[in-house]
Amino acid sequence: MIKHDKWSRDCIDFINDDAITDIIKSTTEDAEKVKRILDKSLRKEPLTVAETATLIATESSELVEDIFATARELKREVYGNRIVLFAPLYIGNFCINDCKYCAFRRSLRTTVRKTLTPDETIAQVEALENSGHKRLILVFGEHPDYTPEFIAESVRNVYAVKKGKGDIRRVNINAAPLDHEGFKTVKASGIGTYQIFQETYHHATYRKYHPENTHKGDYLWRLDGLSRAFESGCDDMGIGALFGLYDWRFEVLGLVTHSIHLQQKYGVGPHTISFPRIQPAHGMEIDPQYVVSDYDFKRLVAILRLAVPYTGLILTARESPEIRRELMEFGVSQIDAGTRIELAGYTKKDDSQELNKEQFAIGDVRSLDEVIHELLTTGYIPSFCTSCYRLGRTGEHFMEYAIPGFIQNFCTPNALLTLAEYLVDYSSDKTCEAGWKLIDDELEKMVDLDMRRQVSDKIEKIRNSNERDFCF
Ligand code: SF4
Repeated sequence: MIKHDKWSRDCIDFINDDAITDIIKSTTEDAEKVKRILDKSLRKEPLTVAETATLIATESSELVEDIFATARELKREVYGNRIVLFAPLYIGNFCINDCKYCAFRRSLRTTVRKTLTPDETIAQVEALENSGHKRLILVFGEHPDYTPEFIAESVRNVYAVKKGKGDIRRVNINAAPLDHEGFKTVKASGIGTYQIFQETYHHATYRKYHPENTHKGDYLWRLDGLSRAFESGCDDMGIGALFGLYDWRFEVLGLVTHSIHLQQKYGVGPHTISFPRIQPAHGMEIDPQYVVSDYDFKRLVAILRLAVPYTGLILTARESPEIRRELMEFGVSQIDAGTRIELAGYTKKDDSQELNKEQFAIGDVRSLDEVIHELLTTGYIPSFCTSCYRLGRTGEHFMEYAIPGFIQNFCTPNALLTLAEYLVDYSSDKTCEAGWKLIDDELEKMVDLDMRRQVSDKIEKIRNSNERDFCF
């Protein structure tokens, strides 16, 4: 076991495999309990591990439909009909780890390796800005070249790109766990969320897929990663598990346990939860027995929605448009769009996928404009909002706003303003037509007449001037 000798303090392994396994085995379907738990969720109260286990143990179709219906209702209550859009940007796929499911693992000699130069990064960001994106997540393998200083410099390079009316207003990070000093360096570059996925919370499975003689082989260093990030001043955290490595029920309870741990220790839970499902990858070696069916995937998303009402749920382009369309109903609040995960893929002429250049195969290669058009014509407001992050409504301060439902008052107006920018600066005619119709309908629905006037005035400025970047 490579032990990280940078431990500055003791840390807690709050994942008890036996306890989680016992609760899964001992929890049976109980209609009365399910009803009480769904009522609690509708009061927007986070669920306990035991309550979440009860929903997981529920299999009769009628009760599962109740779970789906309640997740839909809670989603509308807390997130309204907006869907926040972002894009991933892979900066480098050199990696010293050897995760058996990943095309970037070090022992895979046939993977094409690359680290974007600053100029290449700028070219990718310009392409993303030209398509209308405002929010990015930068992705890095774990490698001595990808130091905290390198990650911070990459963030600053991205924020510095201003192509036409384009700009990136929020940069999130998906990278290896750092020590306290490392997180402080990256935080200082102005990041939003720092994402670290535990991949699997089951210790034995973790050892099976992450060789001990690799950095990532240290389960506890990774599990403690976001705690160190909180202690270093980062305030928006993203957790996640890779579904298909082990029993999905165990991973859902692992995610809920992790959320509760952060909430209890730092007063704020994760900002987002991701639930990527294993997809084909170059040279992938996994045990297929835990592959998650579409039906169980729907159940776990709905159950997560109910368990952590104020945590954003991210569904990526790993999944097909059909699955994404269906799951957005149950509680997904953020999706990527126009995604290319090949290094320098945003300046590539076609959308073909070469798996020896990508971490895994993606299921949704539609353009940003195609995804936005579908959202507009299925009752969603596409949003590029970054105002909470930029106005300091982050971490526990975000929660202050989220809990009373205030966020509704900010989210919809801000979503309409960022949508208006997209329609004026980047949209196709077809999407423009659908977009302005939705904006008119949403303004009509706005009961706060003063807010309606303020939003309308700002939209007029966006349509008739070069002024941009309004927010509440
Ligand atoms: S999953 Fe991440 S850490 Fe593991 S081999 Fe792939 S890039 Fe490296």
